[in-house]
Amino acid sequence: AKRAGGSCHVLFEPHMGSDASAQLELQNDLRHALARGELSLHYQPKIDGQDGQICGVEALLRWTHPQHGMVSPAVFIALAERFGLIGQLGSWVIDEACRQIAEWKRRGANLRVAINISAHQLRDNSLVARIEQALARHGVPASQLLCEITETVAMEDMKATQRTFDGLARIGVFLSIDDFGSGYSSLNYLRQLPARQLKIDRSFVNDLEFSEDARSVVNAVVKLAHALNLRVVAEGVETAAQRDILLAMHCDELQGYFFARPMTAQALLAWSSGDQAR
Ligand code: C2E
Ligand code: CA
Ligand code: CA
Ligand code: CA
Repeated sequence: AKRAGGSCHVLFEPHMGSDASAQLELQNDLRHALARGELSLHYQPKIDGQDGQICGVEALLRWTHPQHGMVSPAVFIALAERFGLIGQLGSWVIDEACRQIAEWKRRGANLRVAINISAHQLRDNSLVARIEQALARHGVPASQLLCEITETVAMEDMKATQRTFDGLARIGVFLSIDDFGSGYSSLNYLRQLPARQLKIDRSFVNDLEFSEDARSVVNAVVKLAHALNLRVVAEGVETAAQRDILLAMHCDELQGYFFARPMTAQALLAWSSGDQAR
């Protein structure tokens, strides 16, 4: 598979994390990042286990800081949460993803795009309307948007989860439980959520080749998901051996550096229309 775009973030000096004035500056910078156009979405392909073709992408937020370069979302999402900027960021992601779906469509590519939903957004009563409006604004059918919510966040506030999941399912948006296995789910509760997809946490995929236990867990999760009529996605697939194990277990979709790194929208279009020998 071709490699494009790269994902050389984490260029974030360690001292920035502890130094209070540096923190404040970064917070301030983040406040203006949107207006300055420093935020962007990169897209990582999800590969269909049956035919090896791209079957969707996950949108991942990037911040290109004028001095620090690419700052990892692992850093600035937490920062945005702490400083009350996460709502604004989340809304920008929703709109930008819908805009991109429409743009790809005009170029003949019909891609389902997954966005990541934060805890804040899950609890926000206006999320469903906001997503509905963004879809309408860009003329995108709801079924082309998928929302990923981590298992941990979904289990934190079950009432909010049920309400938001039901609302999104009602308008036709697909739902996915992200990082599955890293938290603690009640199976009975999982059964009640209108989700379409389970994403197996990267830590299990990472251990597949060397740990009998990891293989047992993943095998059980795939069977559980299929019993609940959910598609299973394995993320963090980095090697051919991991891919082969996952395919043998009938995992539906695969995502990871082995296939492609997250890349710009333009690179993604070229990648998906090029020949993909996998
Ligand atoms: P996530 O949702 O679990 O996203 C998957 C992360 O794994 C991404 O990191 C992706 O670049 C990385 N990844 C993909 N394939 C591989 C692989 O083969 N090996 C390894 N080691 N890593 C791989 P990224 O882009 O740094 O994002 C980190 C986290 O930040 C995401 O984890 C997600 O929780 C959060 N995030 C990213 N974008 C957004 C966003 O728009 N909104 C919200 N609320 N959170 C976001
Ligand atoms: Ca600055
Ligand atoms: Ca995700
Ligand atoms: Ca994940």
